[in-house]
Amino acid sequence: MSAPLLELRDVARTYRVGAGLFAKKRVLTAVAGVSLQVGRGEVLGLVGESGCGKSTLARIILGLEAPSAGEVFLDGRPIGSIGRLERGRLVQPIFQDPYSSLNPRRQIASIVGLPLDVHGIGTAGERRDAVAEMLALVGLAPHHATSFPAQLSGRQRQRVAIARALVLRPALVVCDEPTSALDVSVQSQILNLLMDLRERLGLAYLFISHNLAVVHMLAARAAAMYLGRVVEQGEAQRVLTAPRHPYTAALLASVLTPDASLGLPQMRLGTVFPNPLALPTGCSFHPRCPLALERCSVERPPLRQVDGDGLVACHLAQ
Ligand code: SF4
Repeated sequence: MSAPLLELRDVARTYRVGAGLFAKKRVLTAVAGVSLQVGRGEVLGLVGESGCGKSTLARIILGLEAPSAGEVFLDGRPIGSIGRLERGRLVQPIFQDPYSSLNPRRQIASIVGLPLDVHGIGTAGERRDAVAEMLALVGLAPHHATSFPAQLSGRQRQRVAIARALVLRPALVVCDEPTSALDVSVQSQILNLLMDLRERLGLAYLFISHNLAVVHMLAARAAAMYLGRVVEQGEAQRVLTAPRHPYTAALLASVLTPDASLGLPQMRLGTVFPNPLALPTGCSFHPRCPLALERCSVERPPLRQVDGDGLVACHLAQ
């Protein structure tokens, strides 16, 4: 059996932070022992509130940060052994805010073609053709090639960001809240485009979102993260419609704030999101969990198989 395209083994990321010059540094745990796999052409949805560690995980997978512990494999090889250029051909990001990642002084053709220039791919004419093909694939008109980012709408800018991410034909795309900054009316257009491109180009996505409906639309498998840990994982249809972990259930019951740019679900769980500098003992969800038992505050439930490929970290999961 061939190796998964992406494999994370017990990946952790901590930071030492201090309140002042003489204050003792404390440890902030952003990711705490995450194991995941994404196969070729597969879409894995990663859901959770802001601050749960999703974006840190994305940065580790993109090679922008090293894990403090654990291992990341891309195409069967340790990510640290893959050079920056080769890594760029394997995995590319699409971020939430396309405007901040597009150089305002460059024309769209130059922005989309930059990865080809950096990698020295093709002749100047071939690169021009590749950019034109990519712009057409993401639904931009030929005249947009000479536009500047400020002349485009938010939806068009996200299409440019997608074109730039895909021009090298990566095998895996890490989509970090790619529609959160867009009007609700155009979110579905971008999601449909991402689905269409996945079909055409055989892409795999790690699709990160706080919005379960969006993940449900795209992903075959889903994982829910809470305070740096995966608390539930399995087939997306099951995880996102009949969750077994109280946190995933709370996410499903949450309503999204009307301001899409905030991107935060209103959890209605009473207590506030815990301080990541002082993680709760036992099950880290216990201060907010409506089903918490006495043992939950002292004993951390392992992520264990409950059926088929379904994994849940809860003492109550059958
Ligand atoms: Fe709630 Fe306990 Fe399950 Fe944690 S282990 S989710 S606190 S019931």
